[in-house]
Amino acid sequence: MTTIAEALDQASAVIAGDSPRLDAEVLLAHCLDKPRGHLLAWPEKPLPPDTERRFLALVNKRASGRPISHLTGQREFWSLPLRVTPDVLIPRPETELLVETALARLASPRARVADLGAGSGAIALALASERPGWRITATDQSAAALTLARQNAERLGLNAIEFRQGDWCDALAGEPYDLILSNPPYIPPGDPHLQTGDLRFEPRQALVSADDGLANLAAIIDQARAHLKPGGWLMLEHGYNQAEPVRKRLARRDYQAIETLSDLAGHPRVTVGACPETQTRALEQ
Ligand code: GLN
Repeated sequence: MTTIAEALDQASAVIAGDSPRLDAEVLLAHCLDKPRGHLLAWPEKPLPPDTERRFLALVNKRASGRPISHLTGQREFWSLPLRVTPDVLIPRPETELLVETALARLASPRARVADLGAGSGAIALALASERPGWRITATDQSAAALTLARQNAERLGLNAIEFRQGDWCDALAGEPYDLILSNPPYIPPGDPHLQTGDLRFEPRQALVSADDGLANLAAIIDQARAHLKPGGWLMLEHGYNQAEPVRKRLARRDYQAIETLSDLAGHPRVTVGACPETQTRALEQ
């Protein structure tokens, strides 16, 4: 019989990529339904044959490039275990900067907030877990994404979120928001990055945007103005080289207090702007 240690050694030799050992441990822990620490505590333990079979099947899929999150059906974001499927973007650690920024800038315990293009629900759920008094609307154009986000909310007991289907601000009602935030698709269509790693298996509509990746960011900047309260914030995640065009667009639409924040890797990743306290009409151009 194969032991835990032997199974991990064999799998690590088969899996390609940056972290074969870690991948093997995550997959075996998933098959055993145990935390990863269990593997280190019991290396000599033999694997039941059906567990070994299921593990090998997952290892082969991982070796052919399938994302770990699709194989386990799960991904952690803001310490929340989220269910993830090929219908949504796999939540990224850098998106936690968007959550941090929202929590830091919006002190009110009773804010009204919209997360546009919510995908798995990661951002909306992280905010709901930290600010139970916020009224959060999560939107997505994809019905499959909204179903998954709703399931995540139910499983985590975060029931105060309202889900709406639609494109960007089309899904919002007339009520004005204190904060609108989004991690929209922002990768340029021809970016070679799309042919690598997990991105090959994620929905293109969650990754790619026209105009050098800027089309959706620009649409949100233009539309959000009419849905924000005076002093309300717009907060956007964007590509490492998109801070400048995003800031320019925000300035052109008369947002104030425009600022860009960098993620842990040092990349400019989130840009924020506020509606003027006294509403002036947004410039037309
Ligand atoms: N940050 C992701 C990546 O480059 C893309 C996410 C997005 O387009 N919103 O892998």
